[in-house]
Parts: sequence; structure tokens; C-alpha cells
Amino acid sequence: MSLPNVNTIKCLATACLFCLSCNVLADVATDMARLETIQILSEKDNQAALKQLKELYAQFNLHTDYYLKIDTLRELSSAYYDAGDVASGDLMQAEILKLATAKKDKEVIALLQIPAIFKLRDEGKFDQAIAQLDLIAKDVKDSVRPDNLIRLELAYGSVYHAASKFELALRYYLTALQLTERLPQKKLISKIRRLQTLASLYLTMQNPEQTLIVTGEALSLVAQVDSPRIIASLRLSQAMALGDLKRYPESLVAYERSLKAAQDANLPKMEALILSNMADAHLRTQNFSKAEAVARKALIKAETMQDAASISNAKANLGFALGGQGKIAQAMEYLNPVLQQSREFGDKADIEATVGEVSRMYENLKMYKEALAYTREQQKISNELFRTDRAKTVATLQEQFDADQRKKQIELLARENEVKDIDIKNSRLQQIVSLLGAMVTILVGLFIYMLYRKVKQTNTKLEEVNQQLEFHSVRDPLTGLFNRRSFLELMQQRELRMAEDRREEDDNGPDCLMIMDIDYFKHINDTWGHAAGDQVLVEVAKRLSSAVRDTDMCLRWGGEEFLIFAPKTKPSQLTPMVQRVLHTIGATPIVIGDKRIPVTVSAGYISLPFSGIPEDSCNWEKAMQLADMALYLGKVNGRNRAYGLLSLLAPYQQALPDLEKDFSAAIKQGIVEIAIVHGPEHDPNL
Ligand code: GH3
Ligand code: MG
Ligand code: MG
Repeated sequence: MSLPNVNTIKCLATACLFCLSCNVLADVATDMARLETIQILSEKDNQAALKQLKELYAQFNLHTDYYLKIDTLRELSSAYYDAGDVASGDLMQAEILKLATAKKDKEVIALLQIPAIFKLRDEGKFDQAIAQLDLIAKDVKDSVRPDNLIRLELAYGSVYHAASKFELALRYYLTALQLTERLPQKKLISKIRRLQTLASLYLTMQNPEQTLIVTGEALSLVAQVDSPRIIASLRLSQAMALGDLKRYPESLVAYERSLKAAQDANLPKMEALILSNMADAHLRTQNFSKAEAVARKALIKAETMQDAASISNAKANLGFALGGQGKIAQAMEYLNPVLQQSREFGDKADIEATVGEVSRMYENLKMYKEALAYTREQQKISNELFRTDRAKTVATLQEQFDADQRKKQIELLARENEVKDIDIKNSRLQQIVSLLGAMVTILVGLFIYMLYRKVKQTNTKLEEVNQQLEFHSVRDPLTGLFNRRSFLELMQQRELRMAEDRREEDDNGPDCLMIMDIDYFKHINDTWGHAAGDQVLVEVAKRLSSAVRDTDMCLRWGGEEFLIFAPKTKPSQLTPMVQRVLHTIGATPIVIGDKRIPVTVSAGYISLPFSGIPEDSCNWEKAMQLADMALYLGKVNGRNRAYGLLSLLAPYQQALPDLEKDFSAAIKQGIVEIAIVHGPEHDPNL
């Protein structure tokens, strides 16, 4: 009998090992699946989930897979925390640390610091929190485990979210969402939670459309999970977004659903929050007595919970509900403590919102002086908020932030006329006063005194109206778009930023400037009247905003000229954008009452920097001038079209005089490459 040779022994050993690891793997997969079932259960019944988790963990032994243990402990710990048993929760964290230390698992050890980082976040120490995250990121960022990466991304996202750096928060949350696709198990619940986080970020970013998309997607998945808790919060986000879109009836339905789910899940804190938001929805529809009733319910709920934030929220709503009914003293009794508290403890976005609401309340009551004081405070905070983020975000957020104000702007414009009237009245009165002053007699003196009083009264009124006008100076009062001044400010910021970022290569594409002028607008005014002309401007502004990205800035450049500033627009995106703009404006006539007014625009556009020329040679003003010449070319060649300057085919300094002298000839000589985008065909029957 020959002995088996060494190779055979080796082969046998490998085969055995292989079988063994197959079995172990199968067990791990089963246990992981069980863990996911428990996780889903925890959404419905935390106590039951806790019990099963304990049982699962009790079965583990020395040979149990390390990550299975870690995952189970993580679940256990959060189930304990959810049940209010902090001590046991902490104990599980300590257990994780022990296991991870024995395994020398740097990633898991690093991630255990996240709760401490969240504490920094909650104390408003955002820089410190990010610095700590950067430290732990060193150990985690190259991980092959998507769940660890997700934890890291979410932690970053939530700190940036709290710090009102929405754009950054969004980036991290989206990465976390993408990473859920790489999870081997527990995908569903993880994905729903990420979507929920995203929805709440979009809400804070005042992007209700996106919130609805995300909540819709999450709600379609949630049926498989049957979690009233998640439903409550998703329906709440949905209701708030619908409210932001002024779809109030739908919003109230969503609130009711959310409330019911919160009651099913036995989440009184959430109930208070939902009631507060419902009250807010009634406030927005100016249904103040309903708002008062719901806010009182919310307050009772919040007070039984003894939750400071909910109490403050409910009080604010109650205050506004009372204010709306003209009970200003009672209102301020509720509002003053809220304001004080928010100034002391709230984050900036919070204070900004509260102060803004108070301002609006006073404005509705026509108490403009008080309104202005609060608006100034609000603007100061909002400037601080936005200054910290990129100009792109400024444009988006400011635009959305002011959407509600647009109607008010039109009213303010009407008041501007009032100011002019008063001005004229004033100067006339003053003339009379001086004339009469020359004819000094006791009798006339009395008369003068009366007139003097009248002038004084009118002056006081003038001051009031001026305060109203100062109310929002960055917006064009008619269309609600940004005005020229805010664009100049944006350009200044851009220049400063460019000076800072000079060394940073920007491969996101150049910025784009597109200037438009309505075709035959004088004719529109002449045919349909100036008021209809104004309405056309308002509608064109609306169409314009709907045709561009949220990150693009639309503004009224003057009269019937508009400008789009589209940051980071790659050359390939340019033509589609210009096409979209021309079509959105011109494809269907503008309907005003029973009139159908066909409107088209001519446009010129250019990238900035233009054709790779450094901006200290060809700055935005020069580029605008070139775009303006392109626009003019569009006018003379038939209107309803856009001319774009694509690139310069001769050295800039040499080409510039030719361009300025005869733009059209310069094109023919091939000095500059242009693109033509045609507007929509016009149906003469329309
Ligand atoms: P073109 O196609 O060459 O642009 O012809 P146009 O008639 O539009 O000519 P132009 O751009 O020079 O005309 C601008 C007109 O827009 C003149 C002015 O009366 C009118 N306008 C400017 N601002 C306003 C406004 O706020 N409301 C109204 N209704 N009309 C305005
Ligand atoms: Mg014009
Ligand atoms: Mg015009």
C-alpha cells in the first residue's frame, strides 16, 4: 500500500476547508437575512425586535462571523436607545469596541466616535465635528464595506445639513443612497431611510418638487416594510412639500395620514410636530381660527411631552394664529419667548424662519415699521447663511426663499406710485407754504400752521412708504426675478471667489451668460395695452425660470430684457438649454383673459470664460457686450432665435476691434465661431 503523496494530502485539506467555509457562509447569510427581518420588525414593534435580537445574539459563540456580531450589536444598541434604555445601548457600543479592538478593526473603532461627533454637531460646533470626521475618514474611506462607508457619508451629511451647508449635505446623502445599492443585505430598509433623510434635506433646501419625488419613491417601497413610523415621517415631509407648493387640500390629506400613522406608531412627539405643521398649513391659507384650534391641540400635546422644541413650535403657531386675528398683544405673549429662545439656541436657519414669520405677520397687519425691523434682522441672518455657501447655492436658495414674496412685490410697486403722488403733493404744498409765508399776517399765519401740519403728516406717510419699498431691494418688483443689482453683487462675489480658487482646476464647465430681449414688445404694448404688456413680462419671467436648472439665476436685466446666468454649463449642455428657453417662452401664446398673445425672444449667449481667454482680459462685462452684439444679430436676421459665440479663432486683443466694429463681418471673416438656435415655429392660427 503506497502512502498518499504530499500533493494529494494538500488537495484533500483544501477541499475540506472549502466545504467548511461553504457551510459557515450559508449560516452567515441566513443569520444576516434574519437580522434584516428583525430590523424591519423594529420599525413596527421595537420591543419584539429587541427580544429577537437578544435571542440571536445569545446563540453566537467564538466562531460566529465577526461582522454578523458587529451588525447584531449595532442593531441591539439602537433598539435599546429607541426603547429609552441608554445604559444598555452604551453597553452594546462598549461590546462593539471590545470586539473591534480584538480584531484590530480600525474602521469600526473609528466609526464608534460618531455619536460623540453628533454631540458636537448638536452643540453647533460644526468645524470641530468636521475635523473629527476627517480624522476618522482616514481609517474608513477606503473601506470595502458599504455599510461603513454609508455611516461615514451620513455623518458628514448630517453635520453639513445642520450647518446649513445644503449643497455639501446633499452630495454626501446622495453618495450614501448610491452606496445602499452595494449592500449585500438590509438594502430595502437602508434605502428607505436614506430616501427619508434626503427628503428632509430637500425640504430644508426649500425644494418641494424634489421632496415629493423622493418621498414618492420611498412610499412606494415602504409597503413592504409596513412601518407606521416611517410612513408618518414620509407623509409629513410630503405634506410639507405640498404645502410649499400651495397644494393645500392635498397637503392637509397628507397631514391627516401622517397623523394617523404617528398615532398608530405611538409617537406623541411626532404627533405634536404634525399638529404644529397642520396649524402652519392653516396659517398659510389664512384660516386663523382653525390654525388657532390646531395649534392649541399641538401645544397641549407638546406640553405633556415636555419637549422644549415642540412647545416652542406650537407657541409660535399659536402666536401667529392670534396675530392673524389681530390679537397682537396676545400673539406677542407667545411669540416673544419663542424669538428669544430661537436667538439663543436655534441654528441660523431656524432664527431666520421665525424672524421672517414675525415680519410677515406685522406686514399683514400693515405695521410696516415693525415688519421692516424684523425683515432687516432676517436678511442679515440670511446673508450670513448664504455667504458661507457657494454662489450657486445662493442663487437657488434665495430664489426659492423669496417665491412667496413675489405677489407682495407687485403690491409694493403699486405703492411706489403712491410715493410719487405723495412727492408731488408734498412739493406743491411746500410751494404754497413759502408763498403764503411771504404774505405774513396773523390771519394767514394760522392758515400756514395748518398747512405745515399737513406737510408734516404727508412726510411721515412718505417715510412709511419708503420703508415698505426698502423691504426687498434685490428683487424686480414686477416679475419677482432678481434685479440687475443682485446680479452685480453675484458677479462681485464670483470675482472674489475666483481670486481664491485660482489654483483649483474647474472641470465642471464654464459659466454661461444668455441675454434675451422680447421681440416686437412695443407692438405688444401698443396692441394690447401697457397692463397686458406687464403681464406678458410676468409670464415670460415665469416660463424662463421653469426652463432652467434650479442652480441657474434668472433676472430682469431691464425693460423687456432678461438674463440667465447658468453656472458650470458644459458646452454640450448649452444648445439644449438655449433651445429649451426659446421653446418654453415661445411655443404657446401667453393667455391673458381672453387674449392670446404670441411672444418670442431673441437672444445672445456666451461662455465665461470665453474661448479660454483669461477673465482679466475678457471679463463678464466684455462677454456680456459680445452676447449683446450676438442678440442684435438675431434681431436683424429675423428674431425668434439665439446666436451663441462658441469660440474665437484669432487672438483676442487682435480680434476685439474687428468684433466691435462690425460683428457680422467678423463672423464672415471667420474670426469668431457662432451657433444659431432657432425658436419654435409659429402657427399663424394661434
Ligand atoms: P425688438 O424686437 O427690436 O426688440 O422690438 P421692440 O418693440 O421690443 O423694441 P424695444 O426692445 O426697443 O422695445 C422696448 C419696449 O418695451 C419699450 C418700452 O415701452 C417697453 N417697456 C419697457 N419696460 C416696460 C415695462 O415694464 N412694461 C411694459 N408694459 N413695457 C415696457
Ligand atoms: Mg429692448
Ligand atoms: Mg424688444
